[in-house]
Amino acid sequence: MRVAVNGYGTIGKRVADAVLQQKDMDLAGVTKTRPDFGAKVAESRRIPMYSVFPDRINDFEKRGLSIQGCLGDLISKTDVVVDCTPAGVGRTYRESYARHGSKGIFQGGEEADVAEVTFVAQCNYESAVGKRFVRVASCNTTGLCRTLSTVDRSLGIGEVHASLVRRAVDPFDSTRGPIDAIVPSCSSVPTHHSKDVREVLPHLRILTMAVTVPTKIMHVHMIAARLSREVSQDEAIDVLEATPRTLVLDGRDRLESTSKVMELGRDLGRRRNDMWETVVWEDTITTSDHWLCWTQGVHQEAIVIPEVIDAIRAVFDSVDAETSMNMTDRALGIFQSRF
Ligand code: NAD
Repeated sequence: MRVAVNGYGTIGKRVADAVLQQKDMDLAGVTKTRPDFGAKVAESRRIPMYSVFPDRINDFEKRGLSIQGCLGDLISKTDVVVDCTPAGVGRTYRESYARHGSKGIFQGGEEADVAEVTFVAQCNYESAVGKRFVRVASCNTTGLCRTLSTVDRSLGIGEVHASLVRRAVDPFDSTRGPIDAIVPSCSSVPTHHSKDVREVLPHLRILTMAVTVPTKIMHVHMIAARLSREVSQDEAIDVLEATPRTLVLDGRDRLESTSKVMELGRDLGRRRNDMWETVVWEDTITTSDHWLCWTQGVHQEAIVIPEVIDAIRAVFDSVDAETSMNMTDRALGIFQSRF
């Protein structure tokens, strides 16, 4: 499968690296809007680079960067484009991908109707099989869907309330805030996350609320699920541990904050310190009456990357869900259940 990445930013550079790590995929190239440090990094890694805008090819050449052509040239050489352009921009490319006979994988910043299905591998891989356009769910939605789908399947969820504490901006961003404020991030309740989760898990009754806080790495979700029966804490831990791409953090490891979780990513020597797993703090898993509560963390820059790789295999119907997820997890080094 020849894969192109349109938009070599936070998500795009990670997708490009993950594609390079898959035995069944080739990276045809990435696009850049301008010859900045990202372009120099792509060149140093020998990744074929294309200019988004034909009239800027000279700008790359003036900086001594080799450019293979423009976006149209790249699309015509590929089987699938992973669109990693800023939210809302992806939709403007949809027809162009189709015209060149290429499939398209979009990100969660696009509206759901940009694609035929919103995708989280462990929830609905089969519904993406053979499709032309697939949208990978956003980082928050992916984290919610991973744990909620497993808890629902194993224990039966009647309803869910989830409070989302969202990071303000990504680490590279030096232009936006908040710097010293906590901002209720949506004027309406439920927030758009409820609707997004139901794109993947249509039957789930979920209510989400959110605030944005002045941090740059990781979202935190505080989740309360009302179950169809009472469960013990041990049973709940077993279920969350059995959730794919989810790491239950042992309290004795003292990884009690988002900063320590990211320190784990650093100490493991992962590229860019990425934590692809949803992390669940074991000490927060509690049961009371029919309620099961837990707190989980999502590294927003990383969590969707394995899902993108699985979405590529799904649209080509190359292997089944379990095989694809195993291939992706092995290639990236994703933990299962415990560190
Ligand atoms: P980003 O701003 O870091 O990267 C976007 C890249 O696209 C930049 O390199 C930019 O130069 C380039 N670009 C801008 N206009 C373009 C155009 N017209 N054509 C081609 N390239 C263009 O953004 P990001 O955070 O990587 O987000 C990409 C998508 O992924 C969005 O839909 C976003 O909502 C989604 N997403 C982001 C995160 C996150 O935490 N950053 C997590 C999950 C999903």
